[in-house]
Amino acid sequence: MRLYGYAGKILRINLSKKSYAVEPLKDSLIKHFIGGRGFGIKILWDELPANIDPLSPENKIVVSVGPLTGTKVQSASRWVAQFKSPLTGIYCRSVGGGYFGAELKFAGYDAIIVEGKAEKPTYIWIHDDNVEFRDASKVWGLTTLFTRDIILDETDKRAKMIMIGPAGERLVKISAIVTDDWRTAGRGGGGAVMGSKGLKAIVVRGSKRPEIYDDQTLSDAVNEQIKAYREWPAVPPADFRRLGTNTGTYVWYFMGNFPTYNFQQREWDGIERFRPEILESYIIGHKGCYACAMQCGKIFKITNGPYGGIAWDFPELETEWSFGGIVGVNNIEAITYANMLCDLYGLDTISTGVAIAFAVELCEKSIIDKTETDGLELNWGKPEIVVELVRRIALRIGNLGNLLAEGVRRAAEIIGRGSERYAMHIKGLEMPAYDPRAMKGQGLGLVTGTIGASHAISWNKFEILGVPKKADPLAIEGKAELTKYVQDEMAVCETAVFCKLIVNHDVVNPVFYSRVLYSATGIEEFKDPKYLWKVGERIWNLERLFNVREGIDGKYDILPERFLKEPHPRNPAKGQIFELEPLLKDYYRVRGWDEQGIPTKEKLAELEIP
Ligand code: SF4
Repeated sequence: MRLYGYAGKILRINLSKKSYAVEPLKDSLIKHFIGGRGFGIKILWDELPANIDPLSPENKIVVSVGPLTGTKVQSASRWVAQFKSPLTGIYCRSVGGGYFGAELKFAGYDAIIVEGKAEKPTYIWIHDDNVEFRDASKVWGLTTLFTRDIILDETDKRAKMIMIGPAGERLVKISAIVTDDWRTAGRGGGGAVMGSKGLKAIVVRGSKRPEIYDDQTLSDAVNEQIKAYREWPAVPPADFRRLGTNTGTYVWYFMGNFPTYNFQQREWDGIERFRPEILESYIIGHKGCYACAMQCGKIFKITNGPYGGIAWDFPELETEWSFGGIVGVNNIEAITYANMLCDLYGLDTISTGVAIAFAVELCEKSIIDKTETDGLELNWGKPEIVVELVRRIALRIGNLGNLLAEGVRRAAEIIGRGSERYAMHIKGLEMPAYDPRAMKGQGLGLVTGTIGASHAISWNKFEILGVPKKADPLAIEGKAELTKYVQDEMAVCETAVFCKLIVNHDVVNPVFYSRVLYSATGIEEFKDPKYLWKVGERIWNLERLFNVREGIDGKYDILPERFLKEPHPRNPAKGQIFELEPLLKDYYRVRGWDEQGIPTKEKLAELEIP
């Protein structure tokens, strides 16, 4: 079969043997899983034995792209890293942006599978059909900025790369995989998986371009997409293209999200520092990912105060929260600085901020004191503590740095003394900037997320933005159906690989997905949105099955008791708790799973999962 849209090849790399093989992309894999996240979960499901140590050579990293990657379709050139997570012990998918995904396709591959463990620090240099194992000793121990510059000097300045910083090398469980332009795949500890393999970076350069089945139809769809983007205020009256995710920061707080003080949610006048016009005053430039007219990335310039002298990628909404609201810090300069350190050391900003907030609350509750914090005085609203702890976590400095480097679930297990009540995570993955008490559908998505507490994987646009239609965030009726819808939709998006920020746009809808996927590939089945949704549901169920194989069933669909017992203290969610039982029961019914939350034989047969 002649392939359009795809490169048609998977590159399998074995670090232990210093060998590689090029495998053809199978027709059945394409039809059943489309690309990106679909390819990754199918490969991990088939190839990873149950109960392996995520930091052992047995773990694998699949980095995959989709049939729209490297094409002119807007916001569709992201890449997906998938592995068994050392942070959660279950399946993980972590998505990054920039130009790496497109370059991988140009080099002629739809996915890379990395296996084994290198004898000494290594980076992989892929230039079209040539694959080299290169000595990374020179850059081992260096931050991502120095690593990038040295490796691009040694290879090709036009190459694109993913890499780890010192945090990944030190097996920090909340470490990230970082691109040459800081469009990070942060969640789940992918940096530590690369570090455990002695893999510092994957560098690619390609000269091929994907062939398109129907270029005219694809161009027409893309032109409509760009026109609609230009007219799109994601959160009126702010402008997403002008401010990026900063658009939502101030608004989130007044929805009952942007949780303060480790989800204690006390009123916080510090939110006034996050008004769009204040954030905008820091912006000196715009950037983004391959083929995306949105260019939502912003460059912040900090000139004054102790963090002055830097110009760096803006902290996303989630980072403004994780180094801001959750730790009571309203100093945007310090937040930007902490964000820069995370990019340089290779840390997930969400998990890092939640880990710091956990430690501060333990001090507030007198569960730990200065003898366990290496002398640091931990209090809310201290920017210098946040910046210092980012460094200590990344480099595993001292008792506290080492503890928090394990993530909050493991840190609470080690500390004991009731500390687990303040560890804000689901299935080991730290919570994002959403409060399940304030948005019941979003909360249900977090509880049932196949990677743990990920906002992205179940982003409930019905509740958050009121698109494609408005849903009352505090109601529980009908939320199981909406949660399933957004979860399956995001799984479809991440096969292409579309950006999650774009699924809120009404031009990017089921008809659009089928139109661009069909015109790019010519695959008849992709014409039908219902077929695509079935693929999304298949991916979600297979991810769930992966976790069931690891011993994770409905017993683990739980969340911190704060959400179940402490009523939300702020309007508009004042007095609300999260109604776990009825929501979950309804969700299992809608999913066609049994009472233990396990997909039934009938459901698996319907989805053609063997
Ligand atoms: Fe990248 Fe932003 Fe475009 Fe998403 S919307 S693809 S993050 S530039």
